[in-house]
Amino acid sequence: MQVKLLQDLVEELAGAETGRIVDTLFGKKDVNEFLIAKKMELTINQVRNILYKLSAEGLVSFIRKKDKRKGWYIYYWTLKSEKCLEKLQQSLQKKINDLNAILNSRETKRFYICHQCDIEVTEEKALEHGFTCEECAEVYELSDNSKSIRDTKAKITKTGKDLTLIESELEELREKDRKRRARADKKLAKEEAARKELLKKARAAARAKLKAEEEKKNPKKKVMKKKVAKKKVVKKKVAKKKKKPVKKKVAKKKVVKKKSSLASKLKKKLSKKKKK
Ligand SMILES: [Zn+2]
Repeated sequence: MQVKLLQDLVEELAGAETGRIVDTLFGKKDVNEFLIAKKMELTINQVRNILYKLSAEGLVSFIRKKDKRKGWYIYYWTLKSEKCLEKLQQSLQKKINDLNAILNSRETKRFYICHQCDIEVTEEKALEHGFTCEECAEVYELSDNSKSIRDTKAKITKTGKDLTLIESELEELREKDRKRRARADKKLAKEEAARKELLKKARAAARAKLKAEEEKKNPKKKVMKKKVAKKKVVKKKVAKKKKKPVKKKVAKKKVVKKKSSLASKLKKKLSKKKKK
């Protein structure tokens, strides 16, 4: 990251002469606030004041530790790179938009200048005062916009380059972050799979052990149970198969018996009639 750009940003957010704080924080982690104060030749409260402003914008983070001897907390500060780049991106984009607005007005509007006071005014304002200077009554002259247009265009080009740089840095940082996260996820998944595999093996071993122990205690029990169960099933099936046909046969026999008894009665009657 370009330290100069970050310094500009810090001064935009925390005030003039505060950009130097970047020098003490850049590329470091958990910097003792007393060390920052010493390096910047500021009081601890002045340094904290800057850091709180940057913290409110999310540009720095802190941890605090209790000083065992003195009994109070010391804050340790770290620049948050991604957030800094994001803020820089926003700030540079806004600058470009503002410069484009200036360029547009320089290209489309007329301005007037008082060379005596070195004050420039818009055409409307010049008209309001009859094209004479408000301060010294000198006659306004038409301003030459070409230098302003040239300067503004140069600024836009420069700021655009900075923005491209910041955006590629931001993309790089995010890509690194994505890769780091992907690696962490992969590692976690691997560990989880290994843990599951281990658990599976442990359970299988426990089951095998239990089975072995049971078989040792009563080796025949299991086998007998299974056989008994099978026999029962066979019995039921046999019983079902036999019962129904038996009933039917009995029913048929009864009918036959009835028929036969009727026939015999008839025979008996017939024979009695014959005897008479
Ligand atoms: Zn003037």
